[in-house]
Amino acid sequence: MQLKALDINGFKSFPDRVQLQFDCGITAVVGPNGSGKSNIADAVRWVLGEQSGKTLRSGKMEDVIFSGTQQRKPMGYASVSLIIDNVDRSLAFDCDEVTINRKLYRSGESEYRINGASVRLKDVHELFMDTGLGRDGYSIIGQGRIAEIVSAKSTQRREIFEEAAGISKYRYRKEQAQKRLEAAQENLLRLKDIILELE
Ligand code: ATP
Repeated sequence: MQLKALDINGFKSFPDRVQLQFDCGITAVVGPNGSGKSNIADAVRWVLGEQSGKTLRSGKMEDVIFSGTQQRKPMGYASVSLIIDNVDRSLAFDCDEVTINRKLYRSGESEYRINGASVRLKDVHELFMDTGLGRDGYSIIGQGRIAEIVSAKSTQRREIFEEAAGISKYRYRKEQAQKRLEAAQENLLRLKDIILELE
């Protein structure tokens, strides 16, 4: 899987639409302090479904929308698209190119899209599961993350290895199946009660 481009519009310090192209090999982003380098990594995290303001170095989620300067009015929404080369089908999606888009309006209304089709956050989460790139993936190593990993509990560290080994998808499916089973068992109990009452 290769990141092809990142399209940012109205997100944090990017009021104008900016498209960053990623070629093969290493891409370095350089610039003075406070020029928005880390905001690019935040944009990648955000489009992949990050829900924590703290991880995004913001307070409320709405704070990711360009808040304006003395010269420019605040933006009404933030939109980020991540374009991924999927020729190798590393994402379980039958297209050579996959575009994930997230948009958030000041009103709080938000949407996710995969190749233009409206989806749920859950769908984005599932698409990236076990690829290392998802919301909780290990591909984005922020400042202080290494220290966090080293000092993490062994169970937390295990989650990183599970994602890399490609088994978190199965853990997730197992949890989902267990929840459905519990719901079915509760329904069964209720049915038995009704049958008893009728007898
Ligand atoms: P450093 O090299 O010091 O780590 P950096 O280049 O990584 O800096 P960032 O942390 O990405 O810089 O960007 C910080 C800038 O982004 C600050 O000037 C801040 O005012 C601006 N910024 C963050 N959120 C918003 C927002 N919602 N609207 C406008 N500007 C914002």
